Formats: sequence, structure tokens, C-alpha cells
Amino acid sequence: MRQYQYHLKEERKTEKIFCNQCGKEIIVKNEMPQEDILTVEKRWGYFSEKDNEVHRFDLCESCYDKLIAQFVIPVEKENG
Ligand SMILES: [Zn+2]
Repeated sequence: MRQYQYHLKEERKTEKIFCNQCGKEIIVKNEMPQEDILTVEKRWGYFSEKDNEVHRFDLCESCYDKLIAQFVIPVEKENG
């Protein structure tokens, strides 16, 4: 979940990021999150029941780990 600060020329800067699952604030300095997070943005299409809705959320790493621990098929991992 992101809170934005609006400036001139309709430019928006990410001011605050919160993990949607646990509510933890992710520190942002110079527009860079200071820890790695998962950001999901999905526009649901015609064949969904959410016709054209855009859903967005952010998860901190530990909430991401809890989420993928529930998967029946593990995530694919690659190094490098
Ligand atoms: Zn979290």
C-alpha cells in the first residue's frame, strides 16, 4: 500500500509504503525502498469477475515467505 506526495506538474513521489499483510512501514529514502518488497499490480480483465479493476499491493519479505509457504507447487528459483 503506497501513500503518495503530490508535487507540481502532477508528478507523484512515493512517500510511504506499507506491507498490506502486516502493516509494517517500509522505509523509503530518495524514492528507494530500503528493503526489497514484492509489488503486485494487476488489471483484471474481461474474463474475470472484476472487469477492468486494477488491484495493487505490496508485501514485505517475511509476509512474502509466509505466502509462498502455502503454495502447493513451490516457486521457481533461479540464482544470478
Ligand atoms: Zn509484512
